[in-house]
Amino acid sequence: MKFIIDKLYLEHNLSEEELLELLNNLNDEDKNYLIEKAHETRMNTYGDKVFMRGLIEFTNYCKRNCKYCGIRAANKLADRYRLTQDEILEACSEGYKLGYRTFVLQGGEDDYFTDEKIVQIVKAIKNRYSDTAITLSIGEKSYDSYKRFYEAGADRYLLRHETASRELYEKLHPGMSFDNRIRCLFDLKAIGYQVGAGFMIGLPGQTNEDYVKDLVFLKRLEPHMVGIGPFIPHKDTPLGKEKGGTLEKTIIMLAIIRLLLPKVLLPATTALGSIDPIGREKGIKAGANVVMPNLSPTSVRKKYALYDGKICTGDEAAECRMCIEGRIKKAGFSVDMSRGDYKDWGKF
Ligand code: SAH
Repeated sequence: MKFIIDKLYLEHNLSEEELLELLNNLNDEDKNYLIEKAHETRMNTYGDKVFMRGLIEFTNYCKRNCKYCGIRAANKLADRYRLTQDEILEACSEGYKLGYRTFVLQGGEDDYFTDEKIVQIVKAIKNRYSDTAITLSIGEKSYDSYKRFYEAGADRYLLRHETASRELYEKLHPGMSFDNRIRCLFDLKAIGYQVGAGFMIGLPGQTNEDYVKDLVFLKRLEPHMVGIGPFIPHKDTPLGKEKGGTLEKTIIMLAIIRLLLPKVLLPATTALGSIDPIGREKGIKAGANVVMPNLSPTSVRKKYALYDGKICTGDEAAECRMCIEGRIKKAGFSVDMSRGDYKDWGKF
């Protein structure tokens, strides 16, 4: 097993058979070695820095019906909200004062926010805060829409592929197309965005063979960012009674992704922090180098409930900022408030 981990560390690639072997047969000692190598790799690329992004969850209206997600259209119990452009700008203003230089605008797929409205919001933020990066995370759009947002000033786009297993994807996303999701990711790259893909861990029926597909897909796409986190059931969804993903599996995946894509920006996600009190710290120690504290107004925080038990839903932006900074430092890392763009060192 050490041989396979060393190969991944040195060559940043493995065959499908080797990846499966790694996932099937890791013992505790191998796991520690994998994490050690992932940590070494991040120290060689971005050092001990952890980049901060201010997350603004601006709408929980959604036309999709992803079976795992608490804000799916069919969930009539979800208490829906939309922020106005002024409220979004207010959240940015607060974030800017706290030092954030990246704003992530995330939401359900909400047709109220037409391309025109998104363009206006992006332009308004860029106008006021020209030294910030804007990340959009608003789902599947056409090439032309993505292009318009990019030309308006959006720098980055997060669109998890969710799972690279076509069968599992189709089971979880009624009425959606796996090919279209993949098309979106390649379009975003072609347009020039820094692109984030990613997947959930511990979905019902997900196997190690499926994770191999995720890893192979990531290697093929070569995204700038990869967002992964455990699936956590939400009681008012069809998967409400299923088991969620584990901390251990998520940490192993983070470490493998750090080795597979040494330069990637890799968040320790809120979902990871929600299943373990120091989940994000453990993620950071296994190669993660981004955190995304919440900047949404506290009045709507609880309503952006993708899963049950989400942390930080009662904290003011300033509290989140301080809390996460303390955690990062305590774990032995340093906070970086810059835009935190993807760096290409050429062949690594
Ligand atoms: N509508 C946007 C943003 C989705 S929300 C889009 O389609 O990209 C951001 C991410 O939350 C999703 O990509 C999904 O991976 C994750 N998510 C949704 N429900 C979840 C759950 N129950 N447990 C864990 N993660 C979840």
